[in-house]
Amino acid sequence: MNQCKVCNKVCKGRADKIFCSKDCSNKFHHAKRKKQIDIITTTNAILLKNRNILAEIFEKEKRKKLKVEKLFLSKKGFNFQYNTGIYFNRERKLYHYVYDYAWMEFSTQEVLIVRK
Ligand SMILES: [Zn+2]
Repeated sequence: MNQCKVCNKVCKGRADKIFCSKDCSNKFHHAKRKKQIDIITTTNAILLKNRNILAEIFEKEKRKKLKVEKLFLSKKGFNFQYNTGIYFNRERKLYHYVYDYAWMEFSTQEVLIVRK
């Protein structure tokens, strides 16, 4: 007989049971679902922050393209690891989408940011 995955009590009944009760099964699945929601919520918050940082820069600028220091974005809390997609332009430059904005590594210190 197996031990319950949640409370370690012996599971009575079918040999393949992994929870002692419906209650423990619910607890386990609820915790699993919460973990998934937490990951999604955290990721969405990072993406939204990235998008708002770019939007704020363009708010004061009428241009559609801007060169900015990577450090400037980092200091604002921009996370370069989180993007909503990628694409290569005609010159084969790699752009990272952040919703309706995108950025491209221009040099080791600068990125080109564009509004879509
Ligand atoms: Zn249990």
